[in-house]
This record gives sequence, C-alpha cells and structure tokens, in this order.
Amino acid sequence: MKRVLITGGAGFLGSHLCDRFIKEGYHVMAMDNLITGDIRNIEHLFHLPNFEFYHHDVSKYIHVPGELDYILHFASPASPIDYLKIPIQTLKVGSLGIHNCLGLARVKNARVLIASTSEIYGDPSVHPQPEEYWGNVNPVGPRGVYDEAKRFQEAITMAYHTYHGLETRIVRIFNTYGPRMRLNDGRVLPAFIGQALRGEDLTVFGDGSQTRSFCYVDDLVEGIYRLLLSDYAYPVNIGNPSEITIKEFGEEIIKLTGTTQKLVLKDLPVDDPKQRQPDITKAKAILDWEPKVSREEGLRITYDYFKSLPEEELYTAAY
Ligand code: NAD
Ligand code: UDP
Repeated sequence: MKRVLITGGAGFLGSHLCDRFIKEGYHVMAMDNLITGDIRNIEHLFHLPNFEFYHHDVSKYIHVPGELDYILHFASPASPIDYLKIPIQTLKVGSLGIHNCLGLARVKNARVLIASTSEIYGDPSVHPQPEEYWGNVNPVGPRGVYDEAKRFQEAITMAYHTYHGLETRIVRIFNTYGPRMRLNDGRVLPAFIGQALRGEDLTVFGDGSQTRSFCYVDDLVEGIYRLLLSDYAYPVNIGNPSEITIKEFGEEIIKLTGTTQKLVLKDLPVDDPKQRQPDITKAKAILDWEPKVSREEGLRITYDYFKSLPEEELYTAAY
C-alpha cells in the first residue's frame, strides 16, 4: 500500500485529496494545525485503518513514522482575508513549512507535490497566463505575504529537485470551489452564497469588471492526481479556462439562489488582480487533462452543500 502525507489535509482542497487517495487505496496521513481548516472535513475517514490524522504545525519540525511515497504540501491559508489576518504564519508555512516537507522527503525518499497558485502571476499583464509567464507581483503589498511565499515555495522545491535530485511536482492552482469551502472565508463564491442565504445584498468589489475562472474541485483533484503520477517536474496550471467577470458571477449566483437581493459595489481591495484565466495547454498535452464540470453544475452542487449546513454557520465569524 502506497503511503501519502497530505499537509493541510483538514482544509477544503486537502480533505478532497484525502478522499481521493483513500479511494485509490493509499494509506493517507493528514497533517493540519486547523488554523483555517475544519476537522469535520475529514471526520468521516477516522474509522479507516489506512487513515491517520496528525494535529501539527508544519512550519515546525515534521516527523511521521514509517515509509512515505508521496508528500502533498497543501497547508497554507488560501483566502485573502485569512492570509491578511495571519500574514506571518502564511509566510512561514510557505517557507519553513515546505523546507520541512522537502527535508522529510529526502529522508524518506518520497516525491513531493506542492500547491502553488495563479497568484504567483500577480496582476498579470499576459492573458491568459501560460506557465512561462513570470508574473507581476507587488512583494510589499498586502497580498505579497501569500504570493511571495508561494514563489519562494516553487524556488526551493525546484532547488531540491536540481541539487538533491528529489522528485518534485508543482501545480499552479487557479480559483477552485466546491463543498467544504468555509461559508465565511471571504472568497467570492462563499461570500455571495452566504449573503444570498442571509438575505443580504451581494458585495461586488470595485466595478466588478475584474475576471476570474472558476474550477470545480473534482476536476482539480483529478489534475493533481495525474500530475503527481506523471514524470513532469516543472509547473503545470490546473484550472478551468471559462472566464467570467465578478459582476456576471454575482448575477449567476442571484439566479441560482433565487434571492431578491441585488449587487452592491464596495471598494476594490489593494492589488486585486484585474484578470485571470489559465492557459491549460500543458495540462492537456502532458496529463491529458481538462475540466469536465460546467460552472452551472458545480455551482448547483456547491449551493446544495451550503444550504445543508446548520443555520448558525451562516452567522459565525470568519477564521
Ligand atoms: P484551506 O484554508 O481550506 O486549507 C488550508 C489548510 O492548511 C487548512 O486546513 C489549515 O488549517 C492548514 N494549515 C495552514 N497553515 C498550517 C500549518 N502551519 N500547519 C499545518 N496546517 C496548516 O485552503 P484551501 O483552499 O484548501 O487551499 C489549500 C492549498 O491550495 C493552499 O496551499 C492554497 O494556497 C492552495 N490553493 C488553493 C486555491 C483555491 O482556489 N482553493 C487556489 C490556489 C492555491
Ligand atoms: N470579491 C467580491 N466580493 C466579495 C469577495 C470577493 O467582489 O465579497 C472579488 C475580489 O475582489 C476578487 C474576486 O472577487 O476580484 C475573487 O476574490 P477571491 O477572494 O475569491 O479570490 P482571489 O482574489 O484570490 O482570486
């Protein structure tokens, strides 16, 4: 039985990865300090003999017993309001955290896959964004703590690959959504659905002309699984190229939820990227991967999930 360590395993993406690797017959070790995650995301796996949970901060020395084939480093605050509230922890998990994972991988002779992000392209001047684009990031702006941590993470991972011959994989994840996002994590989809469910207006930042491209979580997990098992060590974009303005996205959520509320404009956060769309030519060619779930279908599933949550969750504070 192959053994995989998933850091950030109690988070949104990490927990879906735990499910996938369990389904594929792996022994899964999830490690999380629960700073933005939720133990309920993985509680359904606790009874399994091939699942273990370690409550641990990966920015501190990591030890796990036994052999290890793969390490997936997904621990990191991911929503702008999270990483703006805990900027130092964000920088630490993207630097000290990955350093610990890479050190552990050398000892265990394991392959490492890191969760990088479209944010490494910053506010992009090339559109759509191919992996060759180096990005346009403000290192000292509010988002710099996340973007630069992720850029460092890519650099140190590539250095371990080049200098130590470690097997490494880098996935650049574009905005992904689905069940187990936190209703109050500040990202646009849970923000809009939460507002619709509470009977509030939907807050569009800026004039809503900025774009994003939303990928359903199952598609992302499939891309990550294929990348891990591939022999490609350079960054690969995984995301859904279907691009939409945030204003149009708000209108879609109004239609989906049937709310009678309207869109209201609020200030645009500093350095908010104006456009974002993945160029997935590489993922198609190398992994034979492309997204399968339409936004209509993915939003419907996600809305049903949010509706099924206890009502008090609608009113709990973020992070
Ligand atoms: P999330 O906040 O739901 O999950 C992150 C998990 O990491 C949480 O469970 C949190 O408790 C844990 N964590 C944070 N710091 C930790 C530490 N020091 N030690 C141990 N655990 C720690 O966010 P997510 O959306 O699931 O994102 C997961 C990963 O994917 C992140 O690395 C993020 O940067 C990356 N990513 C996500 C998206 C997206 O659209 N969801 C896009 C690009 C990149
Ligand atoms: N956004 C918005 N209203 C909200 C939350 C976010 O208009 O209540 C905007 C935000 O300014 C950004 C886009 O939606 O332009 C996506 O934001 P999110 O935080 O989901 O992801 P990211 O900016 O990291 O792509």
